[in-house]
Amino acid sequence: MDFDALFNAQLNQLKEDGNYRYFAELERDCGKFPKAASHGEDGVRDVTVWCSNDYLGMGQNPLVIDAMCEAVARTGTGAGGTRNISGTNHDHLLLERELADLHGKEAALLFTSGYVSNWAALSTLGSRLEGCIILSDAGNHASMIEGIRHSRAEKVIWKHNDVADLEAKLAACPANVPKIVAFESVYSMDGDVAPIREIVEVAEKYGAMTYLDEVHAVGMYGPRGGGVSERDGVADRITLIEGTLGKAYGVVGGYITGSAALCDFIRSFASGFIFTTALPPAVAAAARTSIAHLKESSVEREGQRRQVARLRAALDREGIPHMMNDSHIVPVLIKDPVKTRMLADYLMAEWDIYVQPINYPTVPKGTERLRFTPSPLHTDADIDHLVAALSTLWKQCAIAHAVA
Ligand code: PLP
Repeated sequence: MDFDALFNAQLNQLKEDGNYRYFAELERDCGKFPKAASHGEDGVRDVTVWCSNDYLGMGQNPLVIDAMCEAVARTGTGAGGTRNISGTNHDHLLLERELADLHGKEAALLFTSGYVSNWAALSTLGSRLEGCIILSDAGNHASMIEGIRHSRAEKVIWKHNDVADLEAKLAACPANVPKIVAFESVYSMDGDVAPIREIVEVAEKYGAMTYLDEVHAVGMYGPRGGGVSERDGVADRITLIEGTLGKAYGVVGGYITGSAALCDFIRSFASGFIFTTALPPAVAAAARTSIAHLKESSVEREGQRRQVARLRAALDREGIPHMMNDSHIVPVLIKDPVKTRMLADYLMAEWDIYVQPINYPTVPKGTERLRFTPSPLHTDADIDHLVAALSTLWKQCAIAHAVA
């Protein structure tokens, strides 16, 4: 059988639909974030990255770099095994304590990524709690959807951020079965924020546990970076808070926090925790330093807020439409995959601006977009340059005007 022909048929379809993904080959330039070298067919050149999820530039923070280097020198590179078989290192436990403290919980459990933490935790909860029903926000991330699917538990989807719909669906569930309300705080593509307090109140009314993904909020919201649940003063009422170490904390890895029994339960039954090599201790040490720093320092959060507001105001002045939301994510809808790709290519080729076109399945078809994530390290000049580029494009490009 000609397997390559089978693969190519589907790849060609993606290309025809405009949904084929081309990756930019970047070389991050330590100490110069958001600048990076872009390796392309026409050689190497410096670009400004406008779509990074290293939201606060902590991936190049000198304290975090030093912590990682120190731990490599002290412990070596890899962990040497799964957490169960020789891989649990002192640095992992220090990090888990730091994370439990961040969210005000009894315990925390580390995973190799945020994706794996959602997948492992939801699939374990859904499969091992007999008769469990998982009520999932319609906008939830693929990692949550896959975890729920794998659990084979009954799934009920409620309308995105719609507390009345959640309540109607909870009321329709049998009273005596375990129920889990799964949702996110900041939704990464539209940048909208969940009404966490209202969701918690409804969940409590029906005796459901709450599962909150704070991946796009940890480090950035709340006085210590504990996320929107910390900012809103409801963290203590959430059963399980999940997060990543790979975005605002600038390293890699994922985690859950909750009661000691909950974390022990996932530790003891989750295949995605048990059967994989532990994170390198140096990664844990770097992440702990990043978290500890952002518990104390608000400079990065304030700088980010300032630059987000500045970008939004500049876009408004130029009449460039962007989705309004209460977060740090600035999406500009183009609504067509081919046009989105074209605009991104043009920004890269003519303006040395890298912004990845966002297409299906990351967002629904017809809502393709450019998604900008200003950081505290984008300068005012970077913002002016971006807005000048977009403004030129908007003026030149009949397509963009028609969409706007
Ligand atoms: N949860 C949400 C809402 C996400 O957007 C992502 C990744 O983008 C993840 C989880 C996965 O986190 P990680 O990148 O650490 O695997």
